[in-house]
Amino acid sequence: MKIFNTLSRMKEDFKPIEEGKLSMYVCGPTVYNLIHIGNARPMIIFDTFRRYMAHKGYDVNYVSNFTDVDDKIIKKANEEGVDPHEISERYIKECKKDMEGMNVMPASTHPKATEEIDGMIDMISTLIEKGYAYEVPDGTVYFRARKFKEYGKLSHKKLDDLGTGFGRELKVAGADGKEDSLDFVLWKPKKEGEPYWESPWCEGRPGWHIECSVMSKKYLGETIDIHAGGEDLIFPHHENEIAQSEATNGKPFANYWMHNGFLNINNEKMSKSKGNFFTVRDIAQKYDLQVLRFFMLTAHYRSPLNFSDELMEAAKTSLQRIQTAAESLDFLISNAKSSDMTDDEKALIPEIEGFTEKFDSVMDDDLNTADAITVVFELVKFINTNTGENSSKDFMVKLKDELVMLTDILGLKIEKEEELLDSDIEKLIEERNQARKDKNFARADEIRDELKAKGIILEDTRAGVKWKRS
Ligand code: AMP
Ligand code: ZN
Repeated sequence: MKIFNTLSRMKEDFKPIEEGKLSMYVCGPTVYNLIHIGNARPMIIFDTFRRYMAHKGYDVNYVSNFTDVDDKIIKKANEEGVDPHEISERYIKECKKDMEGMNVMPASTHPKATEEIDGMIDMISTLIEKGYAYEVPDGTVYFRARKFKEYGKLSHKKLDDLGTGFGRELKVAGADGKEDSLDFVLWKPKKEGEPYWESPWCEGRPGWHIECSVMSKKYLGETIDIHAGGEDLIFPHHENEIAQSEATNGKPFANYWMHNGFLNINNEKMSKSKGNFFTVRDIAQKYDLQVLRFFMLTAHYRSPLNFSDELMEAAKTSLQRIQTAAESLDFLISNAKSSDMTDDEKALIPEIEGFTEKFDSVMDDDLNTADAITVVFELVKFINTNTGENSSKDFMVKLKDELVMLTDILGLKIEKEEELLDSDIEKLIEERNQARKDKNFARADEIRDELKAKGIILEDTRAGVKWKRS
């Protein structure tokens, strides 16, 4: 497997720290709003990477955080007159719903920054002891960036291009006590009405960068295989994470750094702060989220990707072509006249298995999902030309398995989930009412859970049972 490593700016052969294992940390969203489709890009890309590595036999430990304390969360909480915790919990829940819709697997661990404050205080204390950090009179703690000799190695920036330092202009430290303009915050004092934690320096809260250094260490260890996120995070976020972690641990932080390109709208970066964004929920109004996933995979993850209605429509049609092939195959399989493969069919087996090889070889080249989709279409074409009423069941099952395996790696669901009709729901509610009358509460609960799994919420009211789709 070759991975483009932002550290070396080269495609490198992937060598895990431990044979057969992969430890990976992906920076997650700040939860103050519904996630937008730009946030969805790293989720879908690195979920696909993870699925592919599992297919190759790796035992993947995948950690992705939620940043649940931040100025934007506090601002939103103040606007709504609620506790910041209520805002972050609400949007974590909504984010998980969107992930499920996009078929993004839950991480092995989803740590939340506010639950890891002790670890952050420990790391900051170590950095102060080692001379990498300093406290100023108001209780703010800064990281002394120039002391970390390799500062700039990820973003390939020279220190003097990054900042001038305060030496010449100010002669003394900045007005805020900062020694150098490159220094960044590790801990900051609370402001009126903000959430805070006790610390040796002041009642306050952590800076953003320290969160990821601490959570990555706690859940994956001092050195991990891969750290990933959108390319906007290279500087300063990831550069600062490296400085903090390597200064603390005296070891490399991550061996490979993967960054996805931006999702743009009208060739401009889409972001919440610019206001030019679509939420995943907006897209779900119009499309099955599988279409969004498919769209994201049609470009190489490091290229910028421009979002447009035309491309979404094209993605929808393409995905349907795969789904139609799968459905026709299912129909033929259930009506097959014979089960054993003919000699002619057996002769085609190496060609079928060749699709996996080709798929793997393009994915091995820095996760080329665009070419992987081309391979899936070649398989669809093969299925359409080589199956019919006279094909054997075994042959068609082999093809179906191949198609499901490849689309599963891409996280694309090709089998339509049966939607419950209103009449089916009514029937089940009727059966549940009867079960309750018969005091068969186990069955009644089972029906409620079954409906819940299909997105139907029941509400028991005086006027009877009401239901809605969630
Ligand atoms: P944020 O909530 O802004 O901290 O972002 C969460 C993740 O989404 C990070 O990995 C960002 O790099 C990524 N991200 C945010 N906006 C975009 C975008 N327009 N295109 C691609 N990735 C993005
Ligand atoms: Zn991070």
